[in-house]
Amino acid sequence: MIPLEQAQEYVLQQCVTGTPERRSSQFSLGLVLAEEVLTVEDVPPFDNTAMDGFAIRSEDTSERSKSLEIVGTIAAGSTPNFSLSPGQAARIMTGAPLPVGADSVVMVELTRVEGNYVTIEGAIPEGNHIRRAGEDLRAGQVVFNEGELLTPTHLGVLASIGCTEVNVFPPLKVGVVSTGDELVEGGKPLQPGQIRDSNRHSLLALLNDLGLKGVDLGLIPDQEDAIEEVFRSACSGEHRCDAVISSGGVSMGDFDFVKVVLDRLGDMRWMQVAIKPAKPLAFGLVENVPVFGLPGNPVSSMVSFELFVRPALRKMMGHTEIWSPKIKAVAESPISRRPDEKTHFARVKASLVDGEYRVQSAGGQGSHQLSAMAEANALAVLPDGTGVELGDAVEIILLHQLTRGLNAS
Ligand code: AMP
Ligand code: MG
Repeated sequence: MIPLEQAQEYVLQQCVTGTPERRSSQFSLGLVLAEEVLTVEDVPPFDNTAMDGFAIRSEDTSERSKSLEIVGTIAAGSTPNFSLSPGQAARIMTGAPLPVGADSVVMVELTRVEGNYVTIEGAIPEGNHIRRAGEDLRAGQVVFNEGELLTPTHLGVLASIGCTEVNVFPPLKVGVVSTGDELVEGGKPLQPGQIRDSNRHSLLALLNDLGLKGVDLGLIPDQEDAIEEVFRSACSGEHRCDAVISSGGVSMGDFDFVKVVLDRLGDMRWMQVAIKPAKPLAFGLVENVPVFGLPGNPVSSMVSFELFVRPALRKMMGHTEIWSPKIKAVAESPISRRPDEKTHFARVKASLVDGEYRVQSAGGQGSHQLSAMAEANALAVLPDGTGVELGDAVEIILLHQLTRGLNAS
């Protein structure tokens, strides 16, 4: 057995970050910036009003009510062709620029109009309801740094500065295949000895959760030629993937042909990692494409994804932070294990209570008990030993981001 960190390092070393490409900003959601983005414009570009109301000169107002002459109307998108002299006001709509001479805005709700005059009660301070040019972003400033993930807000900001193209790390195409003679697709009736393929679906969904679209490479039987055909086409030719994930067939069984085939096709390393679940891991390059041979048990394949595939793909995607953070938590109930020289990753339910993470076991800890993992929203890291007692500190790794379902209380 090799330590987890050593296996992770081996995998990471061989997964290289993609070559940046220029892309339409609009289609770059979820990608990582490969450049610093600057703005050449102020945002907002000019002083404007935050309210519908009247543009005024603040010195014209006082504690006593004042009546001002209305000399024009300024809509958003127009430019005033007049200026305000003492004793004058202009109707102004949200987003419209201020006329020369105005230094303040009074909201319409606080005014009374009679004919061509508006009455304003009370003193209105200078700058009232005015949004200054550059208050959001200043021309010349760095807006985003290299390595930032483009979120919906980032796309909005890029649009606000007129940046229609960005240098980003390209989206990855990651193939997912299930192997096993016993596996059945979908809802077909099960024959004796058969089970349904769940791994391909959970792994494709984990790719989605990472902001990637997976490529469904299907379900293949434990036959050398079928396995070879799928890996060959996924790692070369026009349908070449950036990485391939398979599950099953990497253990010690008589029909674990994934091992045999990958050894023939590429430079693979077969590891027994000192962890539970997910001890076996095959990793290597086939025609320079990283291939992850994950174990077949449903919980193991998902835990293996979290520990090896997620950081590797994050590196390839250009993320600067590739590791899922380990967070301190407190055990709300004992989580026991037996000493076996491995680090265990127990499936737990974490909740935030008064700013502190508390965890309890999510149920059955067998590597086939996927429903208990569905109950979980975190993995508790249990070093070799007998586990943790009630009230003990324990480190956790939060699972999938989109649908974590953390209750805050
Ligand atoms: P293997 O790694 O091929 O020896 O498989 C280990 C266990 O995981 C066996 O009980 C398999 O039936 C099960 N298994 C393998 N692949 C899948 C899959 N795609 N979905 C659900 N269970 C699987
Ligand atoms: Mg199998």
